[in-house]
Amino acid sequence: MKYSLKDLNSFGVESYASNLFYINSIEDFSAIDPDIRKKDVIILGGGTNMLFKSSFIERPVFKIQIKGIEKYKENENEVYVSVGAGVNWDHFVLWCLDNNFGGVENLISIPGNVGSAPIQNIGAYGKEVKDTIVSCEGIFIKNLKKKTFTNSECNFNYRTSVFKDKLKNLFAITKVNFVLSKSNHQIFSEYESVKSLLKNRKITNPSIIDIANIIKEIRDFKLPNYKVIGNAGSFFKNPIINKEKFEKLKLNFKLIPNYYIDESNVKIPAAWLIEACGYKKIIYNNVSVHSNQSLVIVNLGNAKGVDIYTFSQNIKQSVLKKFDILLEEEVNIL
Ligand SMILES: Cc1cc2nc3c(=O)[nH]c(=O)nc-3n(C[C@H](O)[C@H](O)[C@H](O)COP(=O)(O)OP(=O)(O)OC[C@H]3O[C@@H](n4cnc5c(N)ncnc54)[C@H](O)[C@@H]3O)c2cc1C
Repeated sequence: MKYSLKDLNSFGVESYASNLFYINSIEDFSAIDPDIRKKDVIILGGGTNMLFKSSFIERPVFKIQIKGIEKYKENENEVYVSVGAGVNWDHFVLWCLDNNFGGVENLISIPGNVGSAPIQNIGAYGKEVKDTIVSCEGIFIKNLKKKTFTNSECNFNYRTSVFKDKLKNLFAITKVNFVLSKSNHQIFSEYESVKSLLKNRKITNPSIIDIANIIKEIRDFKLPNYKVIGNAGSFFKNPIINKEKFEKLKLNFKLIPNYYIDESNVKIPAAWLIEACGYKKIIYNNVSVHSNQSLVIVNLGNAKGVDIYTFSQNIKQSVLKKFDILLEEEVNIL
């Protein structure tokens, strides 16, 4: 028996798994044969941050579908909400907006599930999910031990956490607990494109709904809908280099965009590096970068996972050769 993963990954590439299990509650793990659970497994959410490079996956795949959104505590200013790992992320954001709960509005329209949001500490438009997470509950798949990781135990950082690092595919998150504001929302509108749209619309005191609407509009314009054109969002992280290296690069590449993240480190937009290597004009076996955002690699139709992978590695080589910067993948490659 083999199971197609084509509809379970946003690149839309064909790949088959020898074993696929749908997990609808934490108890479902204990019903699985220990010989399977103790193998090297793959945990799958919405499949929007994954590239199946191989056309056949030997490892058992566990697709997490645990549902439910529940308020478990509140006071005058804050509400605490427990959300099943299989709830669609944007469904949760819209639920928060409907209830006037603040904290995740900048993260509207990010595809995928709630249980995957802590994995790479999803972020967009100046906000990261870590700032709203109280704890993550789940289970070690091999020995069925349950654990709740507090926010600080999650080791959140730029597009990473303990779950993407040493616990990758070992610990399944089953629930995420959030704290959200009920009033006096902390609005973050400093991102240049958000600021300028607010100004154009003469909105001086934006609500969380205003912020969400504007960010959704920008994203809809800039990013391809993966249901129409296969992709997994940003393929690479934006590299962070030290000040000395940046000053040297600037001598040769005067226009290189940059954001100082602290006194000694500079973040460089990976999209600029990719474009400077000429990738806007390159198509390889039905794979290219997206015309509005070069950091997004797209499947132009029937591309194979291995072609997307080869194209991404070509980009890495070119950027390394031209700028001496090693790009790191944000997407999980299997
Ligand atoms: C068009 C587009 C735009 C995007 N924009 C953004 C953006 O702005 N910011 C951003 O940060 N990301 C963005 N992404 C990436 C992606 O949406 C996020 O990383 C999302 O959190 C992935 O969710 P998923 O459920 O699809 O995870 P999957 O792709 O299924 O899995 C991702 C990783 O998490 C692990 N995992 C999944 N669920 C669990 C679980 N319950 N327990 C343990 N491990 C688990 C998987 O093993 C894998 O390593 C974008 C993607 C697309 C396609």
